[in-house]
Amino acid sequence: MKPILRLFFLLISIALATGCSRSMPEERIIIPERPQKIPEKIVKKIPQIMIPEDTRLIVIDPGHGGKDQGAQSKIYPKCLEKNMALSTAKMVESFLRSYGYKTVMTRTDDSYLTLKERAKFANDKIAKLFVSVHFNAAENRKAHGIEVYYFNSEPEKKKTESSKKLAALVLDNVIVTTKGKSRGIKHGNFAVIRETKMPGIIVEGGFITNDDEVEKIKDAAYMKKIALGIAQGIRKYLQAEGDCPRRDSNARPVA
Ligand SMILES: [Zn+2]
Repeated sequence: MKPILRLFFLLISIALATGCSRSMPEERIIIPERPQKIPEKIVKKIPQIMIPEDTRLIVIDPGHGGKDQGAQSKIYPKCLEKNMALSTAKMVESFLRSYGYKTVMTRTDDSYLTLKERAKFANDKIAKLFVSVHFNAAENRKAHGIEVYYFNSEPEKKKTESSKKLAALVLDNVIVTTKGKSRGIKHGNFAVIRETKMPGIIVEGGFITNDDEVEKIKDAAYMKKIALGIAQGIRKYLQAEGDCPRRDSNARPVA
């Protein structure tokens, strides 16, 4: 055979062996597998996986509500503390959820709850933290700034220490995000933080009786800064405690 013919046959045989490179991709029909029913006897033998109780539940408590309007602004139209607390608390919840924490609110609308009901709500849920959101009021219209309360209990040293730590972190972060004036962390004998069994704080996000401060708080962008500071403080506290959120803690806040 002539070399040229030999080369021709060689190329033909290579093309047939490898298949045409330009052929269409093979279509596959995927037949779903039928789920197999595990016999009852075997199911009983499978050891049950113990799911640990989620201890990361954070109860967010928007202050006041319903017939209890809380404080109100001196300027018109009147700004009610109960409404501002609810809006801020919803933003806090949104931030915390975006960080991967499990949260629940004591109220999500304009309903009235007693202070005892709020504390019982958190205790029944065996919450990890209790965070109450309020705005401040004073006779002196010049009073302004942000403060955070914790309950100082002698017999409950651990709870007191944790609450104080949480209060400090939340205040620090709110001051960073808002650039507001810090009035410090304070001991406060308030029912919601006294009656709750877990560490708890009351955030007073500013004075709605101060004309300048209430103007700022009314602005959703500023309110969001307060909420972000609260959420960041809570996150820092929980991270220091060794609790990791379920999702990436650097997830973008959704609020
Ligand atoms: Zn209040």
